[in-house]
Amino acid sequence: MTPTHPAYAQLRQATPLAAVMLENNPGMMTLDGTNTWILRAPGSDRIVVVDPGDEDDEEHLQRVAGVGSVELTLITHRHHDHTGAVDRFAEITGAPTRSVDPAFLRGGAALEAGETIEAAGTRLHILPTPGHTADSVSIHVEADGQPSAVVTGDTILGRGTTVLDDSDGDLGDYLDSLRRLVALGDGLTVLPGHGPDLPDLAAVAQYYLDHREERLAQVRAALDTLGADASARAVVEHVYSDVDPSLWPVAERSVNVQLGYLRSRG
Ligand SMILES: [Zn+2]
Repeated sequence: MTPTHPAYAQLRQATPLAAVMLENNPGMMTLDGTNTWILRAPGSDRIVVVDPGDEDDEEHLQRVAGVGSVELTLITHRHHDHTGAVDRFAEITGAPTRSVDPAFLRGGAALEAGETIEAAGTRLHILPTPGHTADSVSIHVEADGQPSAVVTGDTILGRGTTVLDDSDGDLGDYLDSLRRLVALGDGLTVLPGHGPDLPDLAAVAQYYLDHREERLAQVRAALDTLGADASARAVVEHVYSDVDPSLWPVAERSVNVQLGYLRSRG
């Protein structure tokens, strides 16, 4: 039987160009775990690995390395559940690692906006999609005669919506990134950092945009009631009163980002 998400400890082919090894590190921020994406054209014995995952998970890394000869490792963004294993994975495979954030470069150059990488029989277009973090990129995967897909990291998840990092996340950047993903057009499979793959990137990115606009409208309305200088916590208690209080600390980070966006625009 073809495995379906979440399939731990086995390679699951999501599209002709992309398979996933789901790491067994489920949690509140990782959903079912980190998706390590494995990209290659059909018939290629070389692979590109995106986001090797958390550190100290030797079984996961050995399984991923066992799929094929690793030509290149790419990083979607700096968060630890995607990058913790960078050193150990580079040691196992000897493959270069490329990222936007120089902290994760291992024998490779920094990723550049608009760059196209040819590897494992595919063409990989690097699309900067900042917002979740400043260094977030998406990877548009193509090969002749095959359906295209986009690795989205945590910019778009397979379920729910994403939380913007309140240290270097930025809502204005994020909305622009979502608009650029919508503009890529119909028929692109979403290969997310967490959760199941989804059939239509443009539709999901549009849903995310609508959701953010809705939340922004709620925060604006809360500020009208609470006063323009209201704290993030006060806004959370007002807007998320229907949400379990255990989730309020996460909501507070998200509201902080929204307040920054609204206040920077006066
Ligand atoms: Zn992340």
